[in-house]
Amino acid sequence: MESRGKKLDVLLSAEQLDQRCRQLGEEISRDYAGEELHAVAVLKGSFMFLADLVRYIDVDVSIDFLGLSSYGSRKATSGVVRMTSDLALPIKERHVLIVEDIIDTGLTMKYLLDNLKTRMPRSLATCTLLDKPSNRRVDVPVDYVGFEIPDKFVIGYGLDDAEFSRHLPYIGVVSQDKDG
Ligand code: 5GP
Repeated sequence: MESRGKKLDVLLSAEQLDQRCRQLGEEISRDYAGEELHAVAVLKGSFMFLADLVRYIDVDVSIDFLGLSSYGSRKATSGVVRMTSDLALPIKERHVLIVEDIIDTGLTMKYLLDNLKTRMPRSLATCTLLDKPSNRRVDVPVDYVGFEIPDKFVIGYGLDDAEFSRHLPYIGVVSQDKDG
């Protein structure tokens, strides 16, 4: 596989991603049976995961988005997280599920949990498609994990390579740059 002149190794295929979304959606539906769920997705990386996940959720679910970014170089979190756009809806008394693309150091999720807790949700849970536990700098509770992956920079299925490659239907690892 190739994207923007870079060779990619497929880490997770479209079929594997779909199958895991189905399993997670079914698990979440069982856990929230009889309740209303409010899914909060973090832009931009989780847009594709959210869209696929909610198709497999069969409890009443509302959806909102927020934008976060961390200062620093492209491939390493600086630890300073900033909200670039806030939620449109209040979360007080709601069963909130944070939907993330990937947890790496944990700093982004920690910032988000601390921020959302102050808004008094009825419950607050976390779901991430990918988890890189070997790179964790702060402990964060993760309730639903799609896949544990090694400490490699991954792209596709929402995850970017300098804003490109988010559209790829699979998750890949850059194996060779165009410069060799
Ligand atoms: P953390 O704060 O947990 O270190 O990082 C979370 C954010 O860093 C993710 O939401 C994502 O935007 C970015 N990130 C971490 N690892 C990767 C990766 O392997 N690929 C891409 N494209 N982004 C990543």
